[in-house]
Amino acid sequence: MFLKSRTESDLLKLLGFLNNRMSLTEDDLKQYLYLKKGYEGELAFDRLTAATLNSDVYILNDIMLEINHSKFQIDSSLIIQDTIFPCEIKNFEGNYFYNDGEFHFSGSKSLITNPLHQVKRAETLLQQYLKKNGFHFRIVPYLVFINPKFFLYQAPQNDSIIFPPQLSSFMEKLNSKPPNLNGMQRKLADKMIADHIIESPYPKLPPYEYHSLLKGFTCAICNSFQIACGERKVTCKDCGFEEEVESAVVRSVEELILLFPSLKITTNIIHDWCGVVESRKTIRKFLTKNYKLMGHGKYSYFEVLLKE
Ligand SMILES: [Zn+2]
Repeated sequence: MFLKSRTESDLLKLLGFLNNRMSLTEDDLKQYLYLKKGYEGELAFDRLTAATLNSDVYILNDIMLEINHSKFQIDSSLIIQDTIFPCEIKNFEGNYFYNDGEFHFSGSKSLITNPLHQVKRAETLLQQYLKKNGFHFRIVPYLVFINPKFFLYQAPQNDSIIFPPQLSSFMEKLNSKPPNLNGMQRKLADKMIADHIIESPYPKLPPYEYHSLLKGFTCAICNSFQIACGERKVTCKDCGFEEEVESAVVRSVEELILLFPSLKITTNIIHDWCGVVESRKTIRKFLTKNYKLMGHGKYSYFEVLLKE
């Protein structure tokens, strides 16, 4: 049972918007693609747990906690009986090799951040977190490689690593434990959800400003800017996806406000931002319908509250 679902982080969303609307530096692009791939791997793990785990296993996705001024993040926490299984999900693809306790990507000399160290750190901090909050749970951490195209030469024999061919037996093993829920599991889950930290994505973004970003609708499916705007629908010239004009306007407003949280949303700005909608009246109609008008006359603007 998912007690906390997973959504695309604001950082990933924002990097995606910026990648469409400006050219990212090599490092920023790398960070974006790394986060995107990681997120896809986490979703693959969610599909697996949703399809195979007993409904009484509590699953908390994407939790970030802080203990003694150290933050730690757990991709997926499974709570069963008196045990919590924090899982670090890796969507590595291709051939890697393991040497001297470190992971290397085949064909490149550069070392990659050792995921086992990440797992160990999260375990240690989770231990402190449980102790401080008076929970007596065992911690059994796992490093899960979710991508079937991942291969690790000279893999260490380590029970806490789950390789792609071991995923189904891992799920069976978790399912073989009788749930034995006594209320403490739910208490722990609720506490972790309440303590979950949402970090601001903005310090991690490259600098950008309104005037230097490409304007226009982007396709909700393929991100193309090749959008034709009709009376009621916008159509992507690249993939053929059709969307109501209203929905495209609302999507663009929410993108803009996530990029510029303190910007005042006015008809003129949205008309400029959306690009292809000719009539300001149409823009104003959708803004009035979806958002609250604040102020008067030429100082009026729309209040946009983003959903979490
Ligand atoms: Zn498209």
